[in-house]
Amino acid sequence: MILSSLLAFALAAQPVDLVVTHGTVVTVDAQRRVLADGAVAIDKGRIVAVGTGAEIAAAYAGRESLDAGGGIVMPGLVNTHGHAAMVLFRGVADDLRLMDWLQKYIFPAEARNVTADFVRAGTRLAALEMIESGTTTFVDMYYFEDQVAEVAKQAGIRAVAGSTVIDFPAPDNKTREEALAYAERYIKKWKGDPLVTPAVAPHSTYIGSPETLKAVDELSRRYDVPLLIHLQESPDEQRTILERYHKSSTEHLRDLGVLRKGVLGAHGVWLNERDRRILIDNNVGVAHCPQSNMKLASGAAPVKEMLAEGLRLGLGTDGAASNNDLDMFEEMLTAALLSKHASVDPTAASAAQVLEMATLGGARAVGLEDQFGSLEKGKRADLIVVSLDAARLHPLYDPVSHLVYATKGADVRHSVIEGRVVMRDRKVLTLDAAAVVSEAERFHQQVVESLKR
Ligand SMILES: [Zn+2]
Repeated sequence: MILSSLLAFALAAQPVDLVVTHGTVVTVDAQRRVLADGAVAIDKGRIVAVGTGAEIAAAYAGRESLDAGGGIVMPGLVNTHGHAAMVLFRGVADDLRLMDWLQKYIFPAEARNVTADFVRAGTRLAALEMIESGTTTFVDMYYFEDQVAEVAKQAGIRAVAGSTVIDFPAPDNKTREEALAYAERYIKKWKGDPLVTPAVAPHSTYIGSPETLKAVDELSRRYDVPLLIHLQESPDEQRTILERYHKSSTEHLRDLGVLRKGVLGAHGVWLNERDRRILIDNNVGVAHCPQSNMKLASGAAPVKEMLAEGLRLGLGTDGAASNNDLDMFEEMLTAALLSKHASVDPTAASAAQVLEMATLGGARAVGLEDQFGSLEKGKRADLIVVSLDAARLHPLYDPVSHLVYATKGADVRHSVIEGRVVMRDRKVLTLDAAAVVSEAERFHQQVVESLKR
């Protein structure tokens, strides 16, 4: 009797690609469930089931398995704003004002160095760093975006990759028309890819003319792809746009008809209540980048208000030249601390709200929350396993508290993206780490030489 029911059990177990076992599963699902001794079943890149270890073991047989070793299983982190290849400018110029930093160092360094090869090498290094520190999706805006997409695909990391369209000569395209044509070819090539979501990126309202912003908007609507833009980042931008258009950047974009779900504004430091209302009414997301904002002294974004009002809020590192790393665990800690510090209110952003910002919130910000950002049946299988081995992580009262206040990127032990194990026991399986680093060092020498000219 017992034997036959066991047999029935075994026969009933559905074969799936991967089962993740022996972890505390922090789901970030609608009920914000945390399952002690939980497990996740994955098949064909999607999550099939999330449950207790016993439930999953009874119902699913994994062709491959991943033992969480008593660690925390959580949705992969979503880095909602950055310029991946800029890791090659990490530390090249620090402690400067945004416009000085951009105009005296970053723009010249980019003009002299950024090629397709540079972007490939930089994005590879960034992908390695991001996978090692728990990011499974990154939102990018840079040049030669087709190379970014290619590298993301090879590295097995999810990307929302925005092709830059600006009015002046850029490293990849010399005119707006060329940039638009490049972006269209790029979108056609990648649209529908399971890992790469193509997007367009008109840098900002202070660099993009109204005609350019409208043309980019038209392109993004025609192909139904996200539109990424820097938004109300600094006091300089506020002043410039107010003088030029007698309104805020948000009002300017609204009046041009650009705002809708899938539009993501980076930074949002200077959004006032009226701007925020406009963004909420139009389902526009914001990428909060606290470390970059602090380093460039751009100000502190109204995080407490944005959370209370229900704005689609994600978290991003920005490029490594203004951070100077891509560790989203650090970014979560900074977001929690800065929001409290700036509002003189320790309840401004809870650990749970910050964790959500770094996962599901990022997916919502870019309008892709039905795809990823939480561990729920039917979603794309992007998850990480955080080891609790460090002394720093004991004792454990609340896993969510530890993830925001005590965990470091280096605690991430395994990573699964689109159902594929891309890092196992801290070894990234999709990239040759030594080759990636030595290639980056070659460009480091080139950047040093270029800045002597
Ligand atoms: Zn940026």
